[in-house]
Amino acid sequence: MPSKTPAVSRRSFLAAGAASAAAISVPASAGSKRPEIRRDRKPLNLIFLVSDGMSTGTLTIADLMIQELHGRRSHWWNLFSKEGVRRSMVETASANSMVTDSAAASTAWGVGERVFSGAIGYTPDQRMPEPILHQAKRAGKATGLVTTTTLSHATPAGWACNVSTGRGDESGIARNMMARNYDVLLGGGRRFYTDEVLALGTDYTKVFTRESLLTLGNSRNDRLVGVFNHGHLSYTLDRTPEEPTLAEMTRVAIERLSRNPDGFVMQVEGGRVDHAAHANDAGGLIHDQMAFDDALGVALEFAENRDDTLVIATTDHGNANPGLTQYLRNGRRNFLRLAEWKHSFEWMNRQLADTERTPEDHRRVIAEATTVELTDDELATVMRWRSGERVIPFTELNKDHGPLGSVLANHNGVSFISGNHTADHIEQTAIGPGAGTIPPILHLADMYPVMVSLLDLPPALPSV
Ligand SMILES: [Zn+2]
Repeated sequence: MPSKTPAVSRRSFLAAGAASAAAISVPASAGSKRPEIRRDRKPLNLIFLVSDGMSTGTLTIADLMIQELHGRRSHWWNLFSKEGVRRSMVETASANSMVTDSAAASTAWGVGERVFSGAIGYTPDQRMPEPILHQAKRAGKATGLVTTTTLSHATPAGWACNVSTGRGDESGIARNMMARNYDVLLGGGRRFYTDEVLALGTDYTKVFTRESLLTLGNSRNDRLVGVFNHGHLSYTLDRTPEEPTLAEMTRVAIERLSRNPDGFVMQVEGGRVDHAAHANDAGGLIHDQMAFDDALGVALEFAENRDDTLVIATTDHGNANPGLTQYLRNGRRNFLRLAEWKHSFEWMNRQLADTERTPEDHRRVIAEATTVELTDDELATVMRWRSGERVIPFTELNKDHGPLGSVLANHNGVSFISGNHTADHIEQTAIGPGAGTIPPILHLADMYPVMVSLLDLPPALPSV
């Protein structure tokens, strides 16, 4: 049975939040005062963090970069050696594809069934079973979704919504989501979350800038929706002052949701890790994975001195399987150049869209974003790709920005295998009450009954 919230750790978490408006810093473990975590207990709260499309190589290169830049390991890496942690390898196939997409993956978590790629809360036999966040709400839990993509994107939607039209119907998903009155919704997608759609929810405080999110105050008890970009939030490399970081959104969401004495369930998504992997954008990827790790640090900081919160860090599928693959000093020197990148490929595209796209424009914009001066041969390859030519034998590696990523790998050492998701089994790391009951080998859909049981949720309605 759930226990009372320990007031001391809650106060220290809020105090840390007040000091963190400019930069999130997670203090070292308090160590001596931590209560013993009993592994047979059930969690009152669940914080489920998804680095979308995170290949194991992505986890690795972010950890390597954090060591180089900050002289410590990533929060995720540190989890592995904590007492009571449960690591699992997770299979991800959808009902019709060995290589899944995020909609089928999140729906597998959300309703416990394998569905067709692209489906949101909709089964192959055309049912719309109640998703887990709705069950949690019906059980009296506070509920939250935090993401760097549009709020109506596949990963938040698979836990919260049912549509027969699939993931592409973000307008329908946004309406469905708002009408269900989840307690905290933070992300992008103002183009779908219009004033009219936002009005479908009741009792919401609405914020549209980082500053208004971080100065909300602690006294408001109504629901919160924050939408900080027309589309997805910017990549970490391109972030504007109006946009909060994933860690900042996570902290505000936890602070509000944890006021509920009956506990909370939230999903946190680092959604642009997936987009950077599709683009073979090594700089965008590593900086967004590090931002995800900061958010994980916030969740662990909250959970650390209490015995009622299960924290799970995972992904929904691999993507493009990057890896640092140059030897010796050259490899390290090149890898460290990723720390100097100023902008993502998305930003580069916007600059080049406004010009006649001459080779010299490309050379200049690429240097501005990455500090890399392309050789004449490399620039020629980039221009052939830009003109639509297949420049790499494997077709799937010519997608998106594959050839640009491949050329830049000469300068940063990180190479990719395609512009697509992969069928890799994925890492799931859980800590907190109930973690020890999670099977070490499972499919995404197998997590649903585990979460429902641990949270004591009522059986799902056959439809909502
Ligand atoms: Zn993807």
